[in-house]
Amino acid sequence: MSTDTIRNFIGGEYVEGGMPFENVNPVDGSVVSKVLEADKSLVEEAVAAARRALEGPWGLYTAVQRAEVMRRIAARIEERAGDLLAAEIADTGKPLALARDLDVSRASQNFRAFADQIASAGTESFLTEFPDGRRALNYALRKPLGVVAVIVPWNLPLLLLTWKVAPAIACGNTVVVKPSEETPSSAALLGEIMAEAGLPDGVYNVVQGFGPGSAGEFLTTAEGIDGITFTGESGTGSAIMRAAAPWVRPVSFELGGKNAALVFADADLEKAIAGLTRSIFTNSGQVCLCTERVYIQRPIFDEVVAGLAEQAKALRMGNPYDEATTTGPLISQKHRSKVFSYFAKAEAEGGLAVVGGGVPQMPAGLEGGSWIEPTLWTGLSHDSTPMREEIFGPVAGLVPFDTEEEAVRLANDTPYGLAASVWTGDLERGHRVGGRMRAGISWVNTWYTRDLRSPFGGVGLSGIGREGGLNSFHFYTEPTNVCVALSNEEVL
Ligand code: NAD
Repeated sequence: MSTDTIRNFIGGEYVEGGMPFENVNPVDGSVVSKVLEADKSLVEEAVAAARRALEGPWGLYTAVQRAEVMRRIAARIEERAGDLLAAEIADTGKPLALARDLDVSRASQNFRAFADQIASAGTESFLTEFPDGRRALNYALRKPLGVVAVIVPWNLPLLLLTWKVAPAIACGNTVVVKPSEETPSSAALLGEIMAEAGLPDGVYNVVQGFGPGSAGEFLTTAEGIDGITFTGESGTGSAIMRAAAPWVRPVSFELGGKNAALVFADADLEKAIAGLTRSIFTNSGQVCLCTERVYIQRPIFDEVVAGLAEQAKALRMGNPYDEATTTGPLISQKHRSKVFSYFAKAEAEGGLAVVGGGVPQMPAGLEGGSWIEPTLWTGLSHDSTPMREEIFGPVAGLVPFDTEEEAVRLANDTPYGLAASVWTGDLERGHRVGGRMRAGISWVNTWYTRDLRSPFGGVGLSGIGREGGLNSFHFYTEPTNVCVALSNEEVL
């Protein structure tokens, strides 16, 4: 793969064509590569290649054979981890350790986990019995959904892409992927890796470009798409749903969040503060599961605020390859302007930045990057704009509460419902409050601990459906119920 021009990957090869746009490194504003934006005809070509692959030998692969290819893909990802890391860091600017331990390592895990699961997946079958003794055997055949459109964002490009591609191909589908315009590189490189691992041509295709009026929209409205799996903003989810409505296409959406953390006075504060720090600032707050609202029980409010501020001050922004760097830039100047606009809103609505609140002075060479200070506010009311809207940066509002009932009400009072965390020394309370969170995932005394077999997704504006384990297999397959009469007489 050429590093200076990123092409679309269709039918097992990188193809010419498309208008170039620039891929910018957010660490210093330099241009990493030119990317060829797929027009409507290239997107249609990719969908046609995926259809041909579905109807070719790939359609005859057994689950065990698909699992074998997936394990080879996982191994190849590990062998080429250095290239993938370089691609991910150039596109996002995230620190090396984060790209290595989160993005790249989860990419191979995604393939291994779903390979293991599909190789042992069964199907439900049961007897239907009538009072007069007649019986019928029912079972469900799960067949691939078909050609699946996979549209993903820029924050964890490789992790989120493989989280969808792995179960899709485990189930025998073919995919056309549209990575974010901000992070085209790892999806493109994965094309080469898939081919090296022996995945048949056309099973994995990549179209590059933007959303509306570009590759994203062309893909969701292309003839021949059988389902859409999308991760991104809630507003984009609704636009995709509207665009795909004429075909009644099945969708699986993992969308935005405004996640709350509840810190009770009985919590182990040292551990809670360390966990909260990770939950607010990992990937500069650009993880859909990051906490942006922290509700703290009043007797420990000052102590937790001081502890979090101290941890935030210890974060180090800088060169992603420098081991001391903990915190990267925001993805783009555009996103920095958005996050920065909330600094003024917070101030106007009574917020006090106990730490951060501005743009940092960066050393020579990094001034052109999209840096922003990790920021914590006190003084904001629960109803203020920065406490209600998803900001998607290294920021959080810290608000006191008195009773458990009040904490649950505040946490659940949001149109989103992706993730929550509860910090308490009382496990009974942990189970009770954790279970009352109106959210797809609720952690107690931990954050971002993930078991890939568990259901993942959100409620309300945070999404539709669940992926993970069998949930993924249910989305990426269509069941046909076969009902066989077991008696000679006619049943029913
Ligand atoms: P985004 O919605 O702007 O873009 C996501 C992808 O959709 C990109 O590839 C983009 O090009 C494409 N797109 C945009 N408009 C489109 C359209 N009309 N038709 C088809 N495709 C279109 O999101 P983003 O800014 O890239 O990512 C940040 C958002 O993603 C945040 O809201 C974050 O919470 C969310 N997110 C959610 C999860 C989750 O699992 N729930 C995970 C990561 C990120």
